[in-house]
Amino acid sequence: MEAINILGTGSAMVTKCYNTCFTLSNGEEHFLVDTGGGNTILANLEKLNINMDKVHHVFISHKHNDHITGIIWIIRAVAQQITDGKYDGNLEIYCHKANIEAINTVTSLLLENKFTKYIGDRIIFCEIYDRCKISILDWEVEFFDIRSTKCLQFGFNTLLSKGEKITFLGDEPYREELFEFASNADYLFHEAFCLYSQRDIFKPYEKHHATVKEACENAAKLKVKNLIMYHTEDRNLTDRKKLYTEEGMEFFNGNILVPDDLEIINL
Ligand SMILES: [Zn+2]
Repeated sequence: MEAINILGTGSAMVTKCYNTCFTLSNGEEHFLVDTGGGNTILANLEKLNINMDKVHHVFISHKHNDHITGIIWIIRAVAQQITDGKYDGNLEIYCHKANIEAINTVTSLLLENKFTKYIGDRIIFCEIYDRCKISILDWEVEFFDIRSTKCLQFGFNTLLSKGEKITFLGDEPYREELFEFASNADYLFHEAFCLYSQRDIFKPYEKHHATVKEACENAAKLKVKNLIMYHTEDRNLTDRKKLYTEEGMEFFNGNILVPDDLEIINL
């Protein structure tokens, strides 16, 4: 059964949860979307009983360190399993050219040759570009440039086995140029840095982020069925689900999901 396994839900500087990343699972294997900023990627995969040998596909949306740095740990863990004879096949890393360079540079500086020797052999980069379509597990995934003004960033969309459309917009708000990718999505991932009512505390607009209000207004305009809000602040974690849903309902009639770390959304 297809599911989303939420590994992290926080924005860059959170300390009470992990940075935003998740897997899209077909019930057997996992397509990992972003890796968060550190070793907690390994801890949270383990907590969700996702063995590394079930992860052969990773997408890195952009090179901010709350999304990319966890790949160092993924590469190290996969390399270790290859060495131990416990990892079949290759690890494919999907990202744009600058990210390939960044990952190569950082791994060459920080990881021992016994790990990096598999890069280019069993750990393979797959360069993505705007509107490229790649078969990943059971899905044809279309990657697209989210038109960030800060840092080249990609999102993606795909159709699930029952034809439902799932769209991931990275960690910036929806832009009109992305209409075709996000309209009528059955599941839309849209960042929501904080509540609109708390915008003066968290200052989302200075960081090119949206609040719950804008995420929900976009979801309404796009006629989305299920809105998944993530990449949030962490000072409301205990009540985040309730607070964000209450505010969001004023602007969006569809289903609002505000997952916690380690939550599983069955599709
Ligand atoms: Zn981020």
